[in-house]
This record gives sequence, structure tokens and C-alpha cells, in this order.
Amino acid sequence: MAFLSINYKKIKDQLSKCNVTLIAVSKTKSVEEILEAYSNGQRDFGENYVQELIKKQEVLPKDIRWHFIGHLQTNKVKDIIRFVHLVQGVDSKKLLQEINKQGKKIGIVVNCLLQMHIAKEETKFGLDETELESIFNAMDSFTNVRICGLMGMATFSSDRDLITNEFQYLRHIFNTYKNKKAPHWQFDILSMGMSSDYTIAIGQNSNMVRIGSLLFGERKKYNNDL
Ligand SMILES: *Cc1c(COP(=O)(O)O)cnc(C)c1O
Repeated sequence: MAFLSINYKKIKDQLSKCNVTLIAVSKTKSVEEILEAYSNGQRDFGENYVQELIKKQEVLPKDIRWHFIGHLQTNKVKDIIRFVHLVQGVDSKKLLQEINKQGKKIGIVVNCLLQMHIAKEETKFGLDETELESIFNAMDSFTNVRICGLMGMATFSSDRDLITNEFQYLRHIFNTYKNKKAPHWQFDILSMGMSSDYTIAIGQNSNMVRIGSLLFGERKKYNNDL
């Protein structure tokens, strides 16, 4: 299995026409495969597992922008926030509080996306609208995070209408909260779409897609990404 540069060029071409940022999801993939993508010009990479991310970050070029896209446990926050470019999976107020606390300790502002629960599956993490509103109302106390937008995952399904509706719902929430004002509330990024549904996501105004298997080939086991 190797990085598929033909797919990469095709996808990059398609995305640059509509100003969508590509996150190459490299979880379970080797340092060599990441370097291959890097040598093709890719700089934004997404990882789901803290230990794996730390190991890779140590040996890979420092101009890589690492996106943490998995479920982050509060006790792991301090291990990665020094170097992570964007924490995409902030799925609870408690986690945001911990990120804020650790950011304050080392004097940095941590870029975050709030992950919304939009899928039918019970297993997918994320906030509901009440929790989002509660975070929005508490922004005065979040001095060391910057909320850059929203992230969401659609139901894993072949039903394109269902996926479209879920992305449309997220787009609606994004537009609502983009126009609200609070400290450190800088809504620019709507991160939605993966290998199987990114074209649908772009149709719903996604401006950041997270693509793994289309670029690196199938992962050996579907590690359940959570
Ligand atoms: C694994 C993962 C992806 C990429 O999945 P592919 O189907 O391989 O493109 C995107 N987003 C998240 C949150 C993931 O965990």
C-alpha cells in the first residue's frame, strides 16, 4: 500500500477550484507514506490517535500542520497542544475547558473546531445545539482557545439523501453561528466530508475535507476511527 499520487493530483485539482482545504488523513499509515504525500506538496495531515501522532510528529518535517481529528481524552490534551495546528474534534465543554486550561499554562491560544453530532449513529461523538449554545455563551471564560468553526461526520451510509440532509443541517448551524459575536469566536472553517462523501459535503459549502483511504489506500482494519 502506498500513497496514490494520481488520486492526490486529481483531488487537489478539484478542491483548489472551489477553495477547499484538503486534510490528508494519515492514521495507521507509515512515516514513509506521509513523506511521499509531503513530497507531492501536502502539508496538512490528520491523525486520530495521540501516541501515533506524537511519534510521527517527532520524526517528520516541522512545517507539517497536524490536525487532531479523533476523540481526544482530557488527560491527553497536554501531550499534543504544543504542536497541533487545529484540534478538530472538540466534542464536549469539559474537553474545551481542559484545552483552555493547558493552553493557559503554556501561554498559547489553541485553534479548535467544535464537533457537532449530525449522524444517526449513536456512536459518533459530538455536541448538540444546546451544548453549542452553552459554549458560545461561555466564551468570555475561554481565553486560550480560538473557535475556528465546526466539524461533523455524516452517517456511514450509501443513502446520499440522508448524507446530504446531515451536511445541510451542519451548514445551517455553521451559518447561524458564523454571524454571532463573542471573544475568540472566529468562525471560518466548516470541516465536513471524507473519502466516500466529500463531493456531497462540498455541495453543502464544506471548505475543509478530511480524506484518508482515497489518498493512501484502504486501511488494514477499519479501526473504527473513534
Ligand atoms: C478516518 C477519518 C477520516 C478519513 O476517512 P476516509 O474514509 O479514509 O477518507 C476523516 N475524518 C475522521 C474524523 C476520521 O476519523
